[in-house]
Amino acid sequence: MFNYTPSPTLLTDRIILITGAGDGIGRAAAKSFAAHGATVILLGRTIKKLETVYDEIEEAGHPQPAIYPMNLEGATPDDYENLANTLATEFGQLNGLLHNASLLGTLTPIEHYVIKRWYQVMQVNLNAPFLLTKACLGLMKRAQDASIVFTSSSVGRKGRAYWGAYAVSKFATEGMMQILANEVEANTNIRVNSLNPGATRTAMRAAAYPGEDAMTLPPPEAIMPLYLYLMGPDSREINGQALNAQD
Ligand code: NDP
Repeated sequence: MFNYTPSPTLLTDRIILITGAGDGIGRAAAKSFAAHGATVILLGRTIKKLETVYDEIEEAGHPQPAIYPMNLEGATPDDYENLANTLATEFGQLNGLLHNASLLGTLTPIEHYVIKRWYQVMQVNLNAPFLLTKACLGLMKRAQDASIVFTSSSVGRKGRAYWGAYAVSKFATEGMMQILANEVEANTNIRVNSLNPGATRTAMRAAAYPGEDAMTLPPPEAIMPLYLYLMGPDSREINGQALNAQD
């Protein structure tokens, strides 16, 4: 596991947006960021799940979160602009953006990949992070320091048979991370990195590896040290890196 012990007040006064915050790793990240003092914006497509996370954060006595329902598959550029305008009005700035939501798509040879499915996966995993980043950069420049984190995968760093659109979207995500990191490096307070969570006990992992005993995998809560490090001020000098949450 990435070795980092965060201060309990690491993220105090930070505003952090998490996509796919209703389940799996996004849910754990939202709760962990809130537990370290952040005001989290929970973005996702299933309102009931977002409400549950909201309630858990409130009941724990952490800063009051916000819910932003949005389906990243159907969202238009205007929807992203509206989101950024709402954040500007409500919070005035954005310190953190965790691109976490993704679709697994189908594990199948490229030759048999269903074209509609390919587009769907690219829309959610690649185009949505592009549109969201583009809309939020202005807000992030207003923050004293700000961190953009893209979620990758081991199949986004080395190609593997049958991982199709998912793996291609993660390779492209790594590319977007490098390009953006290079662009913001000279004259902004923004840093941009990617992380690979590694095998983690979630619904997506179970769908990809149906025969696996989930209890042999770490739960999302266990991989939070890297997420916290990248969102907090200790990673201020880290930019353009592809990191791993697990060894
Ligand atoms: P889950 O499938 O458990 O959670 C994904 C989240 O993304 C869900 O909350 C889901 O919403 C949301 N989401 C999916 N599609 C959309 C959409 N169209 N609009 C809005 N939200 C959407 O996945 P994980 O927690 O396992 O994965 C999180 C990230 O980590 C992903 O980027 C994944 O690729 C990456 N990853 C995970 C690994 C693992 O072992 N778990 C390994 C390597 C990478 P809903 O709940 O409504 O479906």
